[in-house]
Amino acid sequence: MDGATVMRWAAELGSVSAEPDILVRPFGSAALAQANELVGGWMREAEMRVRQDAVGNLVGRYEGSKGDGRTLLLGSHLDTVRDAGRYDGPLGVLVALACVHRLHRDGVRLPFALEVVGFADEEGLRFGTTYFASSVFAGRFDPALLELQDGEGVTLAEAVRSVGGDPDALATSGRSPEDLIGYCEVHIEQGPVLERRGLPVGVVSAIAGQSRIAVELRGQAGHAGTVPMEGRADALCAAADLVLAVERTAREHAGMVGTVGRLTPHPGASNVIPSSVALSIDLRHQDDALRRRACGQLRSAADEIVARRHIDVNWASTQEAAAVPTDPRLTELLTDAVADAGIEVARLPSGAGHDAAELAAIAPIGMLFVRCAGGISHNPAESVEEADVATAIGVLERFLRSLAAELS
Ligand SMILES: [Zn+2]
Repeated sequence: MDGATVMRWAAELGSVSAEPDILVRPFGSAALAQANELVGGWMREAEMRVRQDAVGNLVGRYEGSKGDGRTLLLGSHLDTVRDAGRYDGPLGVLVALACVHRLHRDGVRLPFALEVVGFADEEGLRFGTTYFASSVFAGRFDPALLELQDGEGVTLAEAVRSVGGDPDALATSGRSPEDLIGYCEVHIEQGPVLERRGLPVGVVSAIAGQSRIAVELRGQAGHAGTVPMEGRADALCAAADLVLAVERTAREHAGMVGTVGRLTPHPGASNVIPSSVALSIDLRHQDDALRRRACGQLRSAADEIVARRHIDVNWASTQEAAAVPTDPRLTELLTDAVADAGIEVARLPSGAGHDAAELAAIAPIGMLFVRCAGGISHNPAESVEEADVATAIGVLERFLRSLAAELS
């Protein structure tokens, strides 16, 4: 059971799509059901007991030697974005599955059970519900989401029924946490850090916290030809200053990333001085206090910019998600497993969110990143090296065996 098997599985899974020419597997689609069937078949080959929970998460259980029910969760998501690559999500499920296949081949039972989970909705493509399926699994489901509609007017509740689930049961169908040892997720890095450092895998230190801010700048419209430069209240010039302040602020703090991804000037005519601009700020860091301080700095920068330019500003925080640290013990075991494989240990935060962030509510979490070409993801060009996948399988197996030694 090696990297080649996982590459073959990933290729086969990558051909299971809701559309003929691109890879897309939204929640509740026939393609996702087919993916569950395919992966469920590979699970059964290793004598795993396979089920689907109330929201369509695929769960394969490999019993431990002790039968005391203690369980380590492994996995990631099987849904995808539109025009996706084949590794974001599936790689974590398949690397875990490859480890179970190895244990099964060697006739090994660990002192705890393993459950490999393929989460059914992490990307939130169909309903805009990021981490929906893992939030159900973690018992953190918000019933208000059931009213959401997809592009065709189908509600989330109807989609849950279509996968054989019961929408009314979702709030109470979380995985009971009592027997859980932890959750460990393997995922492609989705960034260029490992590639730049020449490393196949890295250990995740935390899932970064996020602040999202909606800013509106209001100045004064005027004729582009007749209003002199002196005394203008150009909202777009103020926005330009603010965009650069976001960049500067992020660069001042190691590990911080800051992005203005949306910027809409009004009225948007070439011969009119922009009267207002709406823009978004997305700021991320694994240290919540540092991130909040940086937000405060940005707010002061905005106040200074608008005062100087005679502009009004409206500043609204639209999202504050705290960082999710990985568990020290699981992370140390992962770190040792990487070092034992003769690989320099890189510890890096995850700028993107993952199912692990939800699972942290019910279990200690650990994450292992795998290098991906150019840091590219959410793109059919997403690619990983077979040798790196083999390394990830080896590291996860070492991790499992040392956890077993600790807990036996
Ligand atoms: Zn993912």
